[in-house]
Amino acid sequence: MSGAFSLSGRKALVTGANTGIGQAIAVALAAAGAEVTCAGRRDCDETLAKIALAGGRASSQLLDFADPMAARHTFAGAGYTILINNAGIIRRNDSAEFSEADWDDVIDTNLKALFFTSQAFGRELLARGAGGAVVNIASLLSFQGGIRVPSYTAAKHGVAGVTKILANEWAADGINVNAIAPGYIATNNTEALRADPARNRSILDRIPAARWGEPEDIAGTAVFLCSPAARYIHGTVIPVDGGWLAR
Ligand code: NDP
Repeated sequence: MSGAFSLSGRKALVTGANTGIGQAIAVALAAAGAEVTCAGRRDCDETLAKIALAGGRASSQLLDFADPMAARHTFAGAGYTILINNAGIIRRNDSAEFSEADWDDVIDTNLKALFFTSQAFGRELLARGAGGAVVNIASLLSFQGGIRVPSYTAAKHGVAGVTKILANEWAADGINVNAIAPGYIATNNTEALRADPARNRSILDRIPAARWGEPEDIAGTAVFLCSPAARYIHGTVIPVDGGWLAR
C-alpha cells in the first residue's frame, strides 16, 4: 500500500491483540505496512501467525493492565509512532448490586491504563519531536447509558473525554488522538449477549445493518486514523456501529 493510507515505515503497538477487535486491528495495521507489536496479558501467537501468513512484520510483548502503569517503560527509545488502546474488560450486574471490585477492575483496565499508556507514549513522541497517532477503542456506551454495566459505561465515557483532552494538548505537536466507538461486535466481550436469545433479538432488531459486526469491520477505521489521510482529524469518537446511533 502506498500514499495517503499507507503505514509503511511506522511502528505500532496494539493492546489486547491476541483476539477480537485488537487482533483484527493488528492484522490490518501490518497489512498497511506497519511493524506491529501485539501486546497482551497472554501470548499473541495466533495474531502473529496471521500477520506472518500475510507477509507482515510483528512481534509480541506481555503487558497486563491489571497494573494500569504496566506500559510506563514500553515506549522510551523504541521508535513507536502508533498506539492502539484496545484492551478492555466488562463486568455485568445490576447497579443496585454492583461490587467495588467490579467497579475498580474495569476502571483500572479500560480507563486508567488507557490514560497512563497514552501518557508514556506521548511523552516519548514529545521528547523526540515526532508526530504519531493514538486510537482509543471507546464504545456506544461512550454516548449511551447501557444496562447492567455501570463501571464499563463510566470508563467508556471517560475514554471519550480523555481522547479529547489529549487531542487538545497534543494536536499542535502532530499527534492525532482519536477514538473508535464500535457497535455490537461478535467477540468474547459480547458472548453473554449473543447467548441470551431475547437480548440478541432486541439488539439485532435495532441495528440498521441487521447483523452483528465482525472485528474486521473496525480495523479499516483504525488504519485510516493512523494514516496521513487523517492528519487533520483530532479528538473525534467515530462510531462504527452498523447505524445503531442513527436509529
Ligand atoms: P475481547 O474480550 O475479545 O478482547 C479484549 C482484549 O483485551 C483481549 O485481548 C483481552 O485479553 C484484553 N485484556 C483484557 N484485560 C486485559 C489486561 N488486564 N491486560 C492486557 N490485556 C487485557 O473483546 P473485544 O475485542 O470486543 O474488545 C476490545 C475492545 O473493544 C475493548 O476495549 C472493548 O471494550 C471494546 N468494545 C467492544 C465492543 C463489542 O461489541 N465487542 C463494543 C464496543 C467496544 P484476554 O484475551 O487475555 O482476556
